[in-house]
Amino acid sequence: MFVSELRCAVCGRAYASDEVAYTCPDCGQAGTLDVLYDIKALGAAVSRQDIARSADPTLWRYRPLLPLPAKAAVPPLAVGGTPLYNALRLAADLGLAQVWVKDDGRNPTGSLKDRASAVVVARAMAQGIEVVTTASTGNAAAALAGLAASVGLPAVIFVPASAPEAKIAQLLTYGAHVLLVQGNYDSAFDLAVQAAERYGWYNRNTGMNPYTVEGKKTVAYEIAEQLGWQTPDAVVLSVGDGNIISGVHKGFRDLLALGWIERMPRLIGVQADGSAACYQAWKRGQNPATMLPIASHTVADSIAADLPRDRVRAVRAVRETGGAFVSVPDDAILAGIPVLARLSGVFAEPA
Ligand SMILES: *Cc1c(COP(=O)(O)O)cnc(C)c1O
Ligand SMILES: [Zn+2]
Repeated sequence: MFVSELRCAVCGRAYASDEVAYTCPDCGQAGTLDVLYDIKALGAAVSRQDIARSADPTLWRYRPLLPLPAKAAVPPLAVGGTPLYNALRLAADLGLAQVWVKDDGRNPTGSLKDRASAVVVARAMAQGIEVVTTASTGNAAAALAGLAASVGLPAVIFVPASAPEAKIAQLLTYGAHVLLVQGNYDSAFDLAVQAAERYGWYNRNTGMNPYTVEGKKTVAYEIAEQLGWQTPDAVVLSVGDGNIISGVHKGFRDLLALGWIERMPRLIGVQADGSAACYQAWKRGQNPATMLPIASHTVADSIAADLPRDRVRAVRAVRETGGAFVSVPDDAILAGIPVLARLSGVFAEPA
């Protein structure tokens, strides 16, 4: 394994990888930790050609770039390796030369969150953990429930009682233990933290577990490889907690450090008007670490976040790549679904 250290996104303090399990002890929950690699050793051990020779189409084709001991077992579900479509009619409609659609809805439980849960569950197995837990309103919980089921690992999920019924049904169908919390996502989040502490469970909470980003970054590796190691001008992605955009940023930064790509794409984060904390912090030039929660409301339930857990790194991703945040009203979100479906054949949820 080529992990060298964990580094706090707020204060920059470095920790040995076995020293801290979640966020920076000095900075609290805003202090998300970046997993850093010995890029020199990694670059000497593996090349783009080695990756291209892999017969594995899933995210494990990038295994040397992932935080797992060499012989550790991984879950059997096929996560990643999702299609990247050259959406010609969508591009023409938008007046752009090229638009590509990365369809991560094709993952086993239906979202990009499977990438994070695959890495978290693999690490839990490598450490002999007996129960995994998380708090979520939807896709992250489904991803943990599905990946845990694939290896017979019990999962305990804390869900706000207001979460969509269909998503709760999905968790129960995977055999997860579901605890409905009388409160919002934040109360569910805190309960998962306390339960993990008390019972020794491994906590996947988004923006708290450093390894979710390590799974999510693989979507950037795939985009680069699928484009023949060319960097797109911009990557546009929706932002709730800000963990996916942080992962995409990390993925492209890894590739740039390895010299496998020549430049970074601009990252464009899209938020719903009713849940636009990162957009506001970016637009007003505020420090995202000290923001206060709002009462979020949007039809795009998967990107509703009162206080985005990974806001520090999300804003950093946009600032460092010369990108932007965009905030859009719910009616535009809903109107976008049939446009995407009719012009590309990809059917997406509001987020
Ligand atoms: C989770 C999710 C997002 C946003 O990811 P964050 O890490 O919360 O910013 C966007 N779209 C879908 C479908 C999701 O499930
Ligand atoms: Zn810190």
